[in-house]
Amino acid sequence: MSGKEQRYLEETIASNWIAPLGPQVDRFEAEIAAYLGVRGALALNSGTAAMHLALLLAGAGKGDRIFCSALTFAATANPILYVEAEPVFIDSEPETWNISPAALERALFDAQKEKALPKAVIVVNLYGQSALMKPLLELGEKYGVALIEDAAESLGAIYRGKKSGSFGRFGILSFNGNKIITTSGGGALVSGDPEALKRARYLASQARQQARHYEHTEVGYNYRLSNLLAAVGRAQLEVIEERIAAKKRVNERYREALGRTGGFSFMPGPEEGRSTYWLTSLTVEKKKCGVSRDDLIEALENENIEARPVWKPMQLQPLYSGYRYYAHKPGESVSERLFEQGLCLPSGSSLTEEEQERVIEVIKNRLK
Ligand SMILES: *Cc1c(COP(=O)(O)O)cnc(C)c1O
Repeated sequence: MSGKEQRYLEETIASNWIAPLGPQVDRFEAEIAAYLGVRGALALNSGTAAMHLALLLAGAGKGDRIFCSALTFAATANPILYVEAEPVFIDSEPETWNISPAALERALFDAQKEKALPKAVIVVNLYGQSALMKPLLELGEKYGVALIEDAAESLGAIYRGKKSGSFGRFGILSFNGNKIITTSGGGALVSGDPEALKRARYLASQARQQARHYEHTEVGYNYRLSNLLAAVGRAQLEVIEERIAAKKRVNERYREALGRTGGFSFMPGPEEGRSTYWLTSLTVEKKKCGVSRDDLIEALENENIEARPVWKPMQLQPLYSGYRYYAHKPGESVSERLFEQGLCLPSGSSLTEEEQERVIEVIKNRLK
């Protein structure tokens, strides 16, 4: 917490607006939209709910295809199954670890030949870093396919002067407890299309028709964010720039201390913008440094320090192994290499220098 949450919560409780709507929600939505530079935002009770709504608005339903970044958290892909569409997973490229334009182009080319272009492409911006939106938007345009940006991990990142999450037809954000700002649980859908957001708001509020009585013509959802949690979110959004600065310092200290270790390669930084360094991640090549990623996780675990492998790609998940997958290049699966070698280090914005020094010492000692 940053300090102001309690004040905003007390104001909200005093106002007696304890509902999944209210003035704090309205303000939070306006502030999110202003921060991202988009026309509108809809505050929701999770990022997963936001993705579900984005897919519904893209018109995805039974039998449709949705293309999706392979290297991500399952919450990105699960809503594809909620709408009974068929996911096709697209590999990462090595430059940003995000969706490979080369693999996406091959997938779109094949889909066009099969007369089964996807209803949308979900582009995930991993670990605080934007994907290569320029070539991705060009492909979307060329094939007439909408992009949905999963910016759950990249709130605050910038690509070519614009905020991550503001490029696609829809962007989704998460305010889950592990994200750069949090409402404990929450999310948002952002878009430049006010009509689409209006429909999303209706679907997220039980699809209640305009009538004095309760009139329903289609299935709805209960996805809106509580006014109390929006108060927390507003206080959090006020400190996001400080959080990004803190995470950047954490990243710089790791790079300084460990960057010259043979066999260690940090997730490359962006060439055209800024990363939020939500998680500092690197790959560990045992052949070059003598220890594996798992050796390091174990050494840290023995000191009661938690570190984790990078996301296990969707094509390797038992739930998703039956679906199609396009590698970066035929015979070169980048996401699978990243999963084998990739390590996410403790990266909290409240990590002290002393705590971080301890993490670095454990790693250095294990390398000896
Ligand atoms: C956290 C996360 C989500 C889901 O957000 P929730 O608010 O937890 O539902 C989606 N995609 C990615 C990449 C995430 O990291």
